Amino acid sequence: MSAIKYDGVKVPLLLITIFIIVMLLIKNGQALQRFMVRQEIRLSTANYAVTSTEHFDIKYLPIDADYAPMVAGVAEEARQSVSEMFGEKAPERTTIIIYPDSASLAKSFGWNKNAKAMGVYWGGSIRVLSPGEWLKEPSQEAFSKEGPVYHEYAHLMVDEITGGNYSRWLTEGVAQYVEKNLTGFEFASPAVRSSGHSLYSLRQLDKDFDSLEESVAYWQSLKIVEYIVEHYGESTLWQILDELGDGYQVDGAVEKTLSISYDRFEDELFAALEQEWIRGCKV
Ligand SMILES: [Zn+2]
Repeated sequence: MSAIKYDGVKVPLLLITIFIIVMLLIKNGQALQRFMVRQEIRLSTANYAVTSTEHFDIKYLPIDADYAPMVAGVAEEARQSVSEMFGEKAPERTTIIIYPDSASLAKSFGWNKNAKAMGVYWGGSIRVLSPGEWLKEPSQEAFSKEGPVYHEYAHLMVDEITGGNYSRWLTEGVAQYVEKNLTGFEFASPAVRSSGHSLYSLRQLDKDFDSLEESVAYWQSLKIVEYIVEHYGESTLWQILDELGDGYQVDGAVEKTLSISYDRFEDELFAALEQEWIRGCKV
């Protein structure tokens, strides 16, 4: 076996090659994740049909054949308007998989069967629940307004711009903000139902998003993004994403863009959020 000497110790070339490959993969985590997700999708949807449009490959089972053109139409619309809102170029091609029911969508992620989601963004691809499962009279207009495609496409844009370097609260906040602006959809405030809850800190939202009370964590994510837009302008939101893309952590990206310390940002933000939360409890 070939070897080179390092500190007097012979190290086989094979080991060095493996080390270099591992380092490259760690540096290109997003590319590796997307590669793995593409392979997983190829295997798990081998029996799905495919309809291709200019920018999308829609995969579906025969039972959902009628919905594929509807999903494709909304996806092309969403790609155009969501990327315009971000002011960034959209990815050339994206795969969307239509799952016939909640159980198969959840299973595609290894979630438990009770998990309810209408759409999921993961590793460059979008998965949606069949419109036939939740729309009484499925139409492109209804699927566009009430469906998950705008929201999930916004997650894709955040992932693209930041190179995968983002906090859950930020991507959930941006996705809801974009969706609300383009389709008008917004969850009702959870304040009344959750009046026993207190708000979560940025650190909790950052580290434990999935173990928090979901409706409160999502509500707060949108409100933080709206707070940034209202107080500093929408362009700062896109700039924060650019800074994340340059390798800043979320606190550094906020500090650099808003010219304020992260602690002060959080204090002022929470003073505003508390007011809104209390107002919501009284409705
Ligand atoms: Zn989301």
